[in-house]
Amino acid sequence: MIPLEQAFQLLDENVTASPRTNLSLASSVGSVLASDIQSDINSPPHDKSMMDGFAVNSNDVNNGSKRLEIVETIIAGDWPQHAIKPGQASRIMTGAPLPQNADAVVMVEQTEIELVDDVQRVKLLIDSIDPEKHILRQGINFKAGQVVLPQGHRVRATDIGLMAEVGAGQIATRAKPSVAVLPTGNELVDHQTTPQRGQIRNSNGPMLIALAQQLGLQTTNLGSSIDDPRQLASLIESGLKHDVLLLSGGVSAGTMDLVPGILKELGVVEVFHKVAVKPGKPIWFGVSNREGRKQYVFGLPGNPVSSLVGFHLFVRRAIEKMLGSRIDHLPTEYGELNIPHETRGNRPTFWPGKRVIDDQTIRRFEPLVWRGSSDLFALGEAEGLIRFPENSVSHPAGEKVQFLPFA
Ligand code: AMP
Ligand code: MG
Repeated sequence: MIPLEQAFQLLDENVTASPRTNLSLASSVGSVLASDIQSDINSPPHDKSMMDGFAVNSNDVNNGSKRLEIVETIIAGDWPQHAIKPGQASRIMTGAPLPQNADAVVMVEQTEIELVDDVQRVKLLIDSIDPEKHILRQGINFKAGQVVLPQGHRVRATDIGLMAEVGAGQIATRAKPSVAVLPTGNELVDHQTTPQRGQIRNSNGPMLIALAQQLGLQTTNLGSSIDDPRQLASLIESGLKHDVLLLSGGVSAGTMDLVPGILKELGVVEVFHKVAVKPGKPIWFGVSNREGRKQYVFGLPGNPVSSLVGFHLFVRRAIEKMLGSRIDHLPTEYGELNIPHETRGNRPTFWPGKRVIDDQTIRRFEPLVWRGSSDLFALGEAEGLIRFPENSVSHPAGEKVQFLPFA
């Protein structure tokens, strides 16, 4: 059994980033940037008006000009044809470029139009205006050549907008790993079947598939295997055609726990087996090499919540590394325990919990009633895992804890 931090370190050392690949802007949401995104433009590209109104020179207005000649109308998409002189203004629309000599915009609501000898003039209903009022200067948001999104950043919908603005058409990212899932155990039956005596439904298979899909990955369902060396070997071989193989069950110390032995026979090199973590201690992790590509194999413990914790602690970490995310950016929240709680044992414990929303500014997390690693029922309400340190028993309300959100 190795300490948790050592297992993380071994994982980080053994998992490498997937090959680079380009995606179109439209299909890049959810991917991780493999290089910085640089802008090829200033934003905004020109000094522009933030209001519909009249572009003026603030000095002119502040020196008492109240009725101004309208020299042109500038709409968004136009380019101004006239610099304004004292006593003049240009009608301007939101987003339109500012004419020369203008340094402020008077909102249309603060003006009236007067007709004198068939010529329109604008009468200002204000006595003074600050320079820069209602205008946005060229490049104030960001400048051409500036990095607007860093390598390692996960693309969200807002980033798609920003990347469109800066003309990023081909987005460099890392190939998404393909994931195969193979639960093992003589007792397993498909969820559509009514279990007979001694049997249980395979809940890990569908759950692990769904967990991988939530990370945006392609998955392959290998069904399940009985605890038979030949069937296990043949299904594991199929699984090794994928970048990541998730097995569940058969990795503890029982007589039918055949998975580690068979993985070794198939040339999968063990990196670690058994980690000081609760639940999920029996976890097995190894690396294989086929056709010049690495495959990462996780033998997750059979109990569903152990499998779930193994996925959140280790599989997700490996996948983020393959995608090129920053590992230190794995989602973690910090806050206080909402109610007292007891844990036992000498291993760090990850307990299903939920966030408590109240009018305090402090984040609070509440451990749920949970009967251990086979109890998925408690997870219905859970939003993540609360981490408790090893060798500690009583945790008073208010204790500082770490929370690993599921999503
Ligand atoms: P194992 O790790 O194979 O010793 O399994 C530990 C416990 O998890 C046993 O009670 C199994 O019946 C249960 N288990 C194993 N695989 C699954 C699965 N795919 N779905 C639900 N429970 C499972
Ligand atoms: Mg088993």
